[in-house]
Amino acid sequence: MLENALYIVPTPIGNLSDITLRAVEVLKEATLIAAEDTRHSKILLDSLNIHGKKMLSCHDHNEQERVQKIIDEVRNGGSVALISDAGTPLINDPGYKLVTICVKENVMVIPLPGPCALITALEGSGLPTDKFMFLGFFPVKERELEESLKRLEHADYTAVFYESPRRITSTVAQIAAILPERKIAICRELTKTFESFYRLKASEAPAFLAASPDRIKGEFVVIIGSSENDQQDTVIDSKLTSALIELTKTAPLKQVVGVLSELCGVKKNTLYEYALKIKNRAEE
Ligand code: SAM
Repeated sequence: MLENALYIVPTPIGNLSDITLRAVEVLKEATLIAAEDTRHSKILLDSLNIHGKKMLSCHDHNEQERVQKIIDEVRNGGSVALISDAGTPLINDPGYKLVTICVKENVMVIPLPGPCALITALEGSGLPTDKFMFLGFFPVKERELEESLKRLEHADYTAVFYESPRRITSTVAQIAAILPERKIAICRELTKTFESFYRLKASEAPAFLAASPDRIKGEFVVIIGSSENDQQDTVIDSKLTSALIELTKTAPLKQVVGVLSELCGVKKNTLYEYALKIKNRAEE
């Protein structure tokens, strides 16, 4: 028996076997299923052998107006499962307004873990996962896209975006132009037959995508490594470390970093941060 609550239920992003046992149980037992597109979700429910459920559409354009019906259902002793077309509701999908109002009105909200394109992509990207920022879809307007990419020039986190097949080519061209050295992962058709991870340097990506029309088909998550990650392959070896320590005994740090960065081809920022770390460690 379910609690009187709003359940947030993730559904597969491609592979139907990714639905969790708990999600199936909640969908079977809920007294009402609120779905972004009821016709689309009926296909999933049929495949799970769930028939004859009371359903209500709940999408971006009617969410506010559906809220009261959903709250009434819970208050009258029912349980509501919220699902979107694919993946986790609220993640670039409807549900945020509903949850906010339920929280305000003390209606219990029970979120279930499950399929989500951004997390699946991040897991397979090969880029750092310790600090990341999800930024939804890339801006559509060129100027805004440019600004959003420029903001990543010094980002110390991995950035995760959704993108449509219509814009993947132009967006990747912009990433290559603004962040050419950055490691990126273009994650395509996750959990589906043609799942692909293109892990490359941004400057190489436009030519790579142009080489085959299949590479720009399907659904995409684009992941951009942090500016620090660019430099992780740069060797700051023991000789360079000794030079840093010795030279900073007699010359200002900035000057030393400037000279050594020229000599060894290591970015100034990287060397400066490394020098600070050594200095701090020495003072501990
Ligand atoms: N709520 C969903 C989630 O949990 O990921 C996201 C919904 S958003 C409207 C749809 C976008 O998510 C797609 O345009 C694509 O960028 C990304 N996406 C969804 N499924 C995907 C998949 N199987 N492979 C790659 N990207 C996917």
